[in-house]
Amino acid sequence: MKSFSKRIEKLVPSASMSMAEKAREGNATQEIIDLTWGQPDFDTPVHIKQAAYDAISAGKNGYTPAPGIPELREAISNFHASQYRTVYDPSSEVLVTPGAKQGLMYLLQLLIDPGDEVILFEPCWLSYRDMVFFNQGIPRFIPANNDLSPDLNALENVISPRTKAILINNPVNPSGYVFSDEELDSIAGIAEKYNLYVIADEIYDRIVFTGFVSLSEFKNIRERLIIVNGFSKAYAMTGWRIGYLLGPARVISKVNLIHQHTATCASAPSQYAAIAALTGDQGVVDHMVITYKKRRDVFADALEYSTFNLIKPQGTFYSMLEIPETLPKYASKSDFLLSEYGIATVNGISYGESAKNYVRLSLTKDAEILMQVADRLLD
Ligand code: PLP
Repeated sequence: MKSFSKRIEKLVPSASMSMAEKAREGNATQEIIDLTWGQPDFDTPVHIKQAAYDAISAGKNGYTPAPGIPELREAISNFHASQYRTVYDPSSEVLVTPGAKQGLMYLLQLLIDPGDEVILFEPCWLSYRDMVFFNQGIPRFIPANNDLSPDLNALENVISPRTKAILINNPVNPSGYVFSDEELDSIAGIAEKYNLYVIADEIYDRIVFTGFVSLSEFKNIRERLIIVNGFSKAYAMTGWRIGYLLGPARVISKVNLIHQHTATCASAPSQYAAIAALTGDQGVVDHMVITYKKRRDVFADALEYSTFNLIKPQGTFYSMLEIPETLPKYASKSDFLLSEYGIATVNGISYGESAKNYVRLSLTKDAEILMQVADRLLD
């Protein structure tokens, strides 16, 4: 047999999916509590599902315009403007994608030539590394500070003539960190100074417990910034595969070429559902965010005096737990937690060297279950 492409060799399986698999295999001594999955434990709100049923019943089941149905692009533009006072032209600066992940992949395909570099702050979502590799680029990781906050001071040091883009995720999966206004301003200034693109994955922008500033509010980088967002997290629509990009027409029109020749368009019923999500009652999102915040607080309070240090997230539904010591027989921190405590988590090292003493917990379980997790850890 002829070999596969060289670029596929660099991809590794998703650590969160592998760990979820191990959790399903179980443990002989206790019931496993699975905190691996980055998926809301809420169902998609009823009015959003209804909009999809209605679209399907009305026969809106064909291909749509590649960049998305105009009503959805308009709804996205209006919604973004209402949140962040920044207007993107729905006809040329908005592209609807089959999930935020696909939008990210398109952008890397657009920007990277073999050997080009993309800067990432550790700890960062594990798919970025593989996506950059798959596009024959080189991820340049910036190690985090001790508290896992991003080290902005190191940013200029990793820039090289091959640097194409800074990819930031705000709020951060896995740490729940939310970048400050000053930090974003500094990133924007550096991107301008070195003529770099900035890809801002803001998929968790609605799940925040303090304030949130979007990079789109920094007008000085409008021509070099692309915002990635989607419906999976805020509206509990992970399976609907619907997201979007916002950026200058020059970028969006090129991304649309990749999109036309690969996905064609995002799923039509999902697009109608997304309109209902943005134009309908936002109380459904508030309810989920309040719940995530309560869980975070209950869990952080319970672990306050434990030997495990929890980094209290400012956003997302994740948090990082420091595991100082493990028994030598365990290959990883998450194997240790799974075997000794029956808690399935994702190894911190999957998100970068700086997080090697941590595991990521997804707090997408009821507060009572999180209390059981805390009880086991305190035992
Ligand atoms: N970006 C980040 C940081 C994520 O954590 C995820 C999902 O876990 C995605 C993007 C993917 O989102 P989507 O479901 O819209 O593809």
